[in-house]
Amino acid sequence: MSGPRVRFAPSPTGFFHVGSARTALFNWLLARQDPDGVFILRIEDTDAERNREEWVEGITTAMAWLGLDLDEGPFRQSDNAAAYENAAQLLRRSGYLYYCDCSSAALQARKAPGAPPGYDGFCRDRGVERGPTTALRFRTPREGVTTVHDLVRGDVEFANALIEDFVVVKSSGDVLYALANVTDDRHDRITHVIRGEEHLANSPKQMMLWEALNRATGDEVALALYAHLPLLVNEQRKKLSKRRDPVATESYRDQGYLASAFVNYLALLGWSPRGDEEIVPLAALIEQFRLEDVSHSPAFFDVKKLTHLNGEYVRALSASDFVLASAPWVCPWRSDWRPSDRVPSWREDQFNAALYARVAALVQERVATLSEIPAMVEFFFLDEAPVDEGSFAKVIVNDAAGPTILAEAIRRFELLTAWDAPTLHATTVEIGEGLGLALRKAQAPIRCAVTGTLVGPPLFESLELLGREKTIQRLRAAAAKCA
Ligand code: GLU
Repeated sequence: MSGPRVRFAPSPTGFFHVGSARTALFNWLLARQDPDGVFILRIEDTDAERNREEWVEGITTAMAWLGLDLDEGPFRQSDNAAAYENAAQLLRRSGYLYYCDCSSAALQARKAPGAPPGYDGFCRDRGVERGPTTALRFRTPREGVTTVHDLVRGDVEFANALIEDFVVVKSSGDVLYALANVTDDRHDRITHVIRGEEHLANSPKQMMLWEALNRATGDEVALALYAHLPLLVNEQRKKLSKRRDPVATESYRDQGYLASAFVNYLALLGWSPRGDEEIVPLAALIEQFRLEDVSHSPAFFDVKKLTHLNGEYVRALSASDFVLASAPWVCPWRSDWRPSDRVPSWREDQFNAALYARVAALVQERVATLSEIPAMVEFFFLDEAPVDEGSFAKVIVNDAAGPTILAEAIRRFELLTAWDAPTLHATTVEIGEGLGLALRKAQAPIRCAVTGTLVGPPLFESLELLGREKTIQRLRAAAAKCA
């Protein structure tokens, strides 16, 4: 028995939308559930005016990032124009299509008030010959219903009388999406058409074309099963929009989301696992995913939830995988891929990989996305402490204890025989006790002087890794500033 054959068929007309990434994933999951499953990428690039090569690249790069590997393709519809043209001419010769020379002005002029929208069938039986302004229309049945058996929504019925004789080939000779799409689906023996719900209304027309091609060619290809995935909406329950919402898949990679977490999150957009656990690693996803469990209600694309999930995945990484995953953020110069517009505040020659391997353990627990790392670790790699004037004023200049704490820390830290976190911790406790201050208060000026901020990785472990020389040098520089 052969397995499911599915395709992801994006049109490269913009950034790779998160909704498209979800469609690609659901197709891929279905294919991967069966050892004989086949996942195909077909780029629907027939609309030369709206397509751009960079968008095609965006699709393939993001799919590779997400691990959605292909069994066949990528195919490009722009390479297959002759097949669509042949299909159109065959359908025309078999009587399924007819030429129409109505201009939109003529159509408009004929429209009686209250007439149903769409084409009125004027040329259906006029025997119009091909000419420079003729389009080819499909002769839709006037009676009966076309039922889309949708795996997500159940049966959806469309009254044929309400389906206009739609254009299949424009007067320019361009074969439109519906026929190109069906020609390829039949050719590739696609078993499941899984796509966004905005295509639901196209399905009865495509089913008509599919069956017409079956009869015209004599090649009876079983109709694919359909599954229309629910809309993605934002917090206001409005359809995710390119202009309003962060919809570009690649921007999530740039912001430091892990592919594994992003895939897990995409899977939850419309689908829920049968148990309560929302962390579903890839192998379990492949095992558990069922199109029948996809909901037809809109799915809320919740960046907060995604971020939370990402934090869980970040923490679950092994120490060495975390170092590897964060490399593009901390040492982009040596990475194959780097996040756009994000260069660390330190230079390549200031970065120290061995030091970072130890620092990483301090930050792994504290970040939800990888892009948070540079700000947290920059003080390790810069020659001098970064300066945040607001924090500096708060805990050093405007706090009477600030300069005293710094002076005490310099004096005591210089005398230490051991430079490790427990000793530094105990010494800072003593400094605080001497001044009647809790540890929290006593360590604030030290942290600010050495790291530039008031929050960050654990202080004493950080000082241990930074080393005595740099620590004391920074304490002195801060003390000098308020002298
Ligand atoms: N090219 C269509 C789109 O990008 C997809 C069509 C389909 O999956 O059937 O929306």
